Amino acid sequence: MVYRVFNFYPGPATLPLPVLEQAQKEFLDYRGSGMSVMETSHRSKEFEEIITSAESLMLELLDLSDDYRVLFLQGGASLQFAMLPLNYLPAGTAADYVLTGVFAEKAIQEAGRLGKTNISASSKDNKYRNIPLNEEIKLSESPAYVHITTNNTIYGTQWKYIPECGEFPLVADMSSDILSRKIDMSKFSLVYAGAQKNLGPSGVTTVIISKTMLQKAQDNLPMILSYKVHADADSLHNTPPTFSVYMLKLVLQWVKEQGGVQAMDIFNQKKADLIYEAIDNSGGFYKGHAVREDRSTMNITFRLPNEDHEKLFVEEAKKEGLIGLKGHRSVEGIRASVYNAMPLEGCETLSRFMTEFAKKKG
Ligand SMILES: *Cc1c(COP(=O)(O)O)cnc(C)c1O
Repeated sequence: MVYRVFNFYPGPATLPLPVLEQAQKEFLDYRGSGMSVMETSHRSKEFEEIITSAESLMLELLDLSDDYRVLFLQGGASLQFAMLPLNYLPAGTAADYVLTGVFAEKAIQEAGRLGKTNISASSKDNKYRNIPLNEEIKLSESPAYVHITTNNTIYGTQWKYIPECGEFPLVADMSSDILSRKIDMSKFSLVYAGAQKNLGPSGVTTVIISKTMLQKAQDNLPMILSYKVHADADSLHNTPPTFSVYMLKLVLQWVKEQGGVQAMDIFNQKKADLIYEAIDNSGGFYKGHAVREDRSTMNITFRLPNEDHEKLFVEEAKKEGLIGLKGHRSVEGIRASVYNAMPLEGCETLSRFMTEFAKKKG
């Protein structure tokens, strides 16, 4: 048996073992080609098959028709913070953003360098512990688009509803919860997600975009920043991150084999419940950061009575093979990231460890 820990890192994050094993098996000779995928031309028939099936698998898993395109780009979600306003925020228009965390803040900041933005609701004053209610969201007159962050990776909150925004295009950063739960994707005009949380290794970013939205993009852009150019070229305008796209395709196949998004939803809820139960049953030893209604199934954030306990918690967890639990510097405390690929056993082990630790120190 290979030595494998339970990896709770927020991203890059744990990948499904069968995916890693398949990549290992195919590493030197990809399906009789006599080459690694890494060495294959992005214009070869082998790679074309990989990227084409990645697009169709993504649409199938998200239950989207071919009214949508899937792009595989570089630059991370951070480039999307800029590409989105470049394509959809021309002078004289404004875009609405809901401020629910640090990544939303960065998205607004980047759009603000290019055009006019409004903050239509915010949970900043509440230390990003919650998601604003639908009735708290005040849209501007005629926003070019409305942007939300469906899962707040750092704070551990998650939107449990899709905000109503009438005829205005809804856009989402789904970097940390794409493909993790049943959600009506057809309500969104554009969704982007860096792969390194729920989809694969770093290096590739997925953009899912409706054809109607694609039509509306600005034309006077550098080609490399234009959604239209990338869509017209089927993500082969320039060399894509081929190995990352290949890994992403294997992850999509794995999700499909598990029973698709519906099965992931049930599985993820079960895993998160194990850890939230350990928090709620600790007699106040662990304090969750997020309000109960908005708790994320992907990133679970909590504090201990003091920083010494938190340091010790991380150290002792590590000895049990539970890695990557230190919280983000802006929340501190502990964060357990339990994406699709985290096995049930990882959450069981962490939950048990938490209960024992609280008993010992509480
Ligand atoms: C990780 C993350 C990002 C940043 O992604 P990069 O790929 O590093 O640019 C943006 N948004 C969310 C919600 C994230 O979780």
